[in-house]
Amino acid sequence: MSLAADASPPSPLCGALRRDWTREEVRGLFDLPFPELMFRAQSVHRQNFDPSAVQISTLLSIKTGGCPEDCAYCPQSARHDTGVRAEKLMALDAVLAEARSAKQAGASRFCMGAAWREPKDRDLDNVCAMVEGVKALGLETCATLGMLTAAQARRLKASGLDYYNHNLDTSPEFYDKIITTRTYEDRLETLNHVRAVGIHVCCGGIVGMGEGREDRIGMIVTLASLPTHPDSVPINMLVRVAGTPLASKQELDALEFVRIIAVARITMPRSVVRLSAGREDMSEETQALCFLAGANSIFYGPKLLTTPNPGRDRDRELMDKLGISPMI
Ligand code: SF4
Repeated sequence: MSLAADASPPSPLCGALRRDWTREEVRGLFDLPFPELMFRAQSVHRQNFDPSAVQISTLLSIKTGGCPEDCAYCPQSARHDTGVRAEKLMALDAVLAEARSAKQAGASRFCMGAAWREPKDRDLDNVCAMVEGVKALGLETCATLGMLTAAQARRLKASGLDYYNHNLDTSPEFYDKIITTRTYEDRLETLNHVRAVGIHVCCGGIVGMGEGREDRIGMIVTLASLPTHPDSVPINMLVRVAGTPLASKQELDALEFVRIIAVARITMPRSVVRLSAGREDMSEETQALCFLAGANSIFYGPKLLTTPNPGRDRDRELMDKLGISPMI
């Protein structure tokens, strides 16, 4: 695409809610000169959000390790020798204590993650009690527990769950290089169950796993073509954990990561785009560019499930420097 062709003001369609993005259009966005892409993303962002407000979530691993799935990026898979020990589901009191401290530190949403292929019904009873307890503290609730049946989604909804996270991870074409123990269709089906009961959908992916730009395009097109855009779109940079099959993957270029954020913002204008895993190794400048590109959510707290995350002090310092404040 030539610069001359791109010099025109952004089309009003850029900020419209569309579910018919084609690969060619999304490829065209990725190919834009960086300043033009940033301008368009920032324009769309300002049409839909306060550009200086960032939603803050805290993520707690309520059941760590020993997962039977084979996700190649995940230190919690029992198939990878990463030193992560399998633990039991946390007790309700301990989860609520963590939620209280997250709230005190400024989080508005508390996400609970369990390393399961899918929850057993008795485990779901315990998770529902956690959801009720966290909600009673005045926090939004989110859970990521693996695949769900329609009945399990209904139970979670009845307990007051606000968000369910289930990522597509990557493009349909690249998917089997990363996971073989569940299909892309399985993932879409869980998302359908969650959407059908009226729980907000949190769904995004991971980049830097050895995929090419075409896969990143495929992932964005799939996310933007879901029956409704996910309310929340986490974009994760691979954390290369020793012992996982992806440990020695080459690091993704930071500016390519910023482009992905910008394209997610343009194609899903009203979704909250979360700058998710991988921030620990990201410079302040890269994170600032991500916020400019339309990211407006972060995970806050020293740990993301089992991998490190910038400490609360570092995040507070960065937000102060940028004049960004927590979204109310
Ligand atoms: S990403 Fe989730 S499902 Fe996959 S191995 Fe890790 S904990 Fe299990």
